[in-house]
Amino acid sequence: MPIITPLTKLLNIRIPVVQGGMQWVGLPKLVAAVSNAGGLGIITALTQPNPAALRNAIKETRTLTSKPFGVNITLLPSINPPDYAGYARAAVEEGVKIFETAGNSPGELIKYFKSNGCVVIHKCTTIRHAQSAAKLGVDVLSIDGFECAGHPGEQDIGGLVLLARAAQDLKVPYLASGGIADARGVAAALALGASGVNMGTRFMCTVESPIHENIKKTIVKSSEQDTVHIFRTLHNTARVFKNKVSLEVVSIERRPGGAKFEDVRELVSGQRGRLVYETGDPDAGIWSAGIAVGLINDIPTCEDLLRTIEKGVEDVITNLNTVVVKSKL
Ligand code: NAD
Repeated sequence: MPIITPLTKLLNIRIPVVQGGMQWVGLPKLVAAVSNAGGLGIITALTQPNPAALRNAIKETRTLTSKPFGVNITLLPSINPPDYAGYARAAVEEGVKIFETAGNSPGELIKYFKSNGCVVIHKCTTIRHAQSAAKLGVDVLSIDGFECAGHPGEQDIGGLVLLARAAQDLKVPYLASGGIADARGVAAALALGASGVNMGTRFMCTVESPIHENIKKTIVKSSEQDTVHIFRTLHNTARVFKNKVSLEVVSIERRPGGAKFEDVRELVSGQRGRLVYETGDPDAGIWSAGIAVGLINDIPTCEDLLRTIEKGVEDVITNLNTVVVKSKL
């Protein structure tokens, strides 16, 4: 039974699953695999060294899929501030029609995409920000709960309440993001009024994911207790895998008098984190991971993953009906 939602109709995709932006992971091969499997793959713009390289990544993705895909641009504090406008222009000029935006002060970017007739999915961690983004004209909100990898904001609201609040207050379709890695999560998200889900960590651990096999195996072995928050004291909280480097960052932040970004800069640099994915050493640097690591027990192809989820959602919903009907007898 196909799962048809406002998201599948808007994006012309088969299953309401979006592979969200992931630094060093959202590369053409994975993006195309997700789109070919019926979801929406998304290229992470800032993983490309410059806008020209993003153009090439978009062209490469087109050689691998004829299905819709998008581009993510995340606006967060950076060691070297990126040319956001240049990345945006390159993607629009290459004909990309779907964008995922995230982070601080996205107004100009959203306006630019909307004035070019694009669909915008905006990631938020509070209902207040979601409402502001809706006023800016975004088409879909991606509601990111405390469970998520990367930046969950500073309010610590779990997905269950955040999504129920979204159901009460939002008029635009929304995705559930954070903590979702299987059919139960997708079914729960739909029950909470979401039009689909965003998954990141789950897609890191697929055959087509471009990261080292050893990191995929590390995710499979991990439990939901294997992530930690860094940058809490810098008000740029990020959920990352618990390893030697992230624990060192946390201990520096806890020193009397606290820490400045400069005290942890070398430890947290994205360029160092990239080595984790290249070398397969989980302690080489910081790498993003959501608590969904505790739900991931295999390394499937994107096709197998999305087929399993699609079938599983149907089973979960059918069994739910049985429970409800039985309890009425
Ligand atoms: P980076 O090397 O510039 O910085 C590493 C980390 O430090 C990032 O989490 C960044 O937000 C944080 N940071 C940088 N300057 C800071 C400051 N002055 N105060 C507090 N925190 C600070 O980052 P990167 O890993 O090379 O990534 C480049 C950009 O992409 C960053 O803006 C990052 O936030 C963003 N990003 C995007 C995604 C995504 O899913 N699209 C994922 C991770 C990171």
